Amino acid sequence: MKQKLLTPTFWLIAFLLPSSCFTQQSQKKVLRTIVIDPGHGGIDPGARGSFSTEAEVSLAVSMKLGKAIGQEFPDTKIVYTRTTDVLPGNKSNKTEALRYRADLANSSGGDLFIAIHCNSAPPIRHSEVVGYKTVTTYRGKGKKKKRVTKKVPQYRYWTTPNAAEGTETYIWALNKNDAKVNSVSKIEEDYGEIDSTSTITLPDPSDPAEKARMLIYAQNYFRKSLTFADLIEKGFQSQGRTYRGGVKQRNDKGIWVLQATGMPSVLVEIGFMSNREEENYINGEKGEDEIVANIVNALKDYKQKLESRQITSDDKKAF
Ligand SMILES: [Zn+2]
Repeated sequence: MKQKLLTPTFWLIAFLLPSSCFTQQSQKKVLRTIVIDPGHGGIDPGARGSFSTEAEVSLAVSMKLGKAIGQEFPDTKIVYTRTTDVLPGNKSNKTEALRYRADLANSSGGDLFIAIHCNSAPPIRHSEVVGYKTVTTYRGKGKKKKRVTKKVPQYRYWTTPNAAEGTETYIWALNKNDAKVNSVSKIEEDYGEIDSTSTITLPDPSDPAEKARMLIYAQNYFRKSLTFADLIEKGFQSQGRTYRGGVKQRNDKGIWVLQATGMPSVLVEIGFMSNREEENYINGEKGEDEIVANIVNALKDYKQKLESRQITSDDKKAF
């Protein structure tokens, strides 16, 4: 009897609740967990500058970034792959550490993965002729033996610092055409970064599970990663950082972690360790604060785009 009396109220509540709950939830859900991945660490210092290493700079900027994101989005959980100068998970080699980064991101149910790295460009090599040396050789045999002298140029070799500067934001390379998803497994030449020395196995498109993950990435995470990466690069440009061509795609081993994480992911090269001026900037408070502010601003825009469904929001990942 009691149940019967309550029925109209129950149905009214049941009718009203889901839509309001859904709206609130979908507003909150877009960035529940963000994974921040400071590149390198411990025995892997990454690129070396004149007074600092990539591992140190990446860690300092990542910690500031996490703090700033926490202040801006108090409901978002921040997961760091490392918080001290060690390889993530205290692993003993880079390959295991790389896997740990991806596994942690996935098991944390991350909605976004941000890797922080620093770039490096090799010194420019020069050479010039500084003189000639007379070299004597003999040709032929026996009585036909002839003495030959010739002048050989003498060279001086030296290097000068590479002036390369600016930021680069990477996403995992992928052909937009799903039929060409196999191209993901191709290895491209690395630039500057030390990461490519790791011996990690790249995804194998003939494995159905990995192929499925590539397709999901192609259809969903790629678009989001590109949107976020583009906001970051545009922000750096507006801060006056040197433009190096916008968002780039790369599928070397070092960036494998982006593909391995079942979520939108970007890798930000915040500046060049090999450029003294930029090394100073990314080590200094002003530089760190500007880099962090830019990524947080990009995140605000990205979140807003997700919430207003300018880029479609996905439900929990299959991997
Ligand atoms: Zn790196």
